[in-house]
Amino acid sequence: MIPPIANRFVAGESPAEALEHVRRLNGRTVAGIVNLLGEHYDDRSPVRSDAATYRVLAADIGNSDLEACLSVKPSQLGLDLGEDVFREELAGVVDAAADRGVFVWIDMEDHTTTDATLDAFVDLAREHDGGVGVCVQANLRRTRADVERLADVPGKVRFVKGAYDEPAEIAYTDSERVNREYEALLEYAFEHYDGGIAVGSHDPAMIEHAIDCHEEHGTEFEVQMLMGVREDAQYDLAREYPVFQYVPFGDRWKSYFYRRMTERTENVKFALQAILDR
Ligand code: FAD
Repeated sequence: MIPPIANRFVAGESPAEALEHVRRLNGRTVAGIVNLLGEHYDDRSPVRSDAATYRVLAADIGNSDLEACLSVKPSQLGLDLGEDVFREELAGVVDAAADRGVFVWIDMEDHTTTDATLDAFVDLAREHDGGVGVCVQANLRRTRADVERLADVPGKVRFVKGAYDEPAEIAYTDSERVNREYEALLEYAFEHYDGGIAVGSHDPAMIEHAIDCHEEHGTEFEVQMLMGVREDAQYDLAREYPVFQYVPFGDRWKSYFYRRMTERTENVKFALQAILDR
């Protein structure tokens, strides 16, 4: 069982708990992006097991009236074991989800995985004429070229600042510079994409910028935020724009929870408050 200190950020250990959380979100017109926690497997068996869980989740979502999609990590689906393993497992999940009309996001991990992740996305997005999305990171210097390359690919693109510490030769390390890149990428996307833009940020300035771009170009977009982070803002934004909450679940919750705790002191206060509220 997830202890109270962590359940602000993690929906539970089982798929049923994650879908129950999504049902509550849907009641507040926020959709769910369901992610089974797991990454960097060096053995095929957890890869197979997680892929099977995603296929079952796709069926459960497809057979329900839930507003939900899935998000998978490349190294969870075997990228550390080889690109062929990753592509095979990812295709299995995306095929099963497409059969049920369920959208699949591919998270982006560190820069050593960018080419393999984007190449797999482009092939699957073309094969399924959409139905799949990929994340791009504003802190990487290469991303402007990637965003231009993705302009005529069906599917969606999630824009984030980037969660991985990357070397300065390939990444912007100054947070203000990352913010300016993020805004510039949004400007390009709102001008050149037909839609399918996801703003994956809690930053009010980035979300405001996206709204300004939307008002200027009319391009559709959605906002994506994490479970437990600025949830009131999620509910407010959902009155005007599509909002998706990233909903992690699973028994490997400890390292995810630790990341949320270390990135902001406010999160430690939230977690302690959760205990006091019990
Ligand atoms: P930050 O730069 O962290 O913060 C800017 C401002 O936002 C703050 O000053 C504050 O005003 C507000 N804010 C931020 N956090 C909080 C908080 N806890 N409480 C209150 N206000 C807050 N990264 C990847 O590398 N790959 C991925 O696949 C990926 N997927 C993601 C999916 C989603 C849905 C989201 C939301 C993020 C994802 N990320 C991913 C993480 C992302 O790269 C950033 O590391 C993370 O979102 C922090 O950047 P930020 O834009 O939210 O704002």
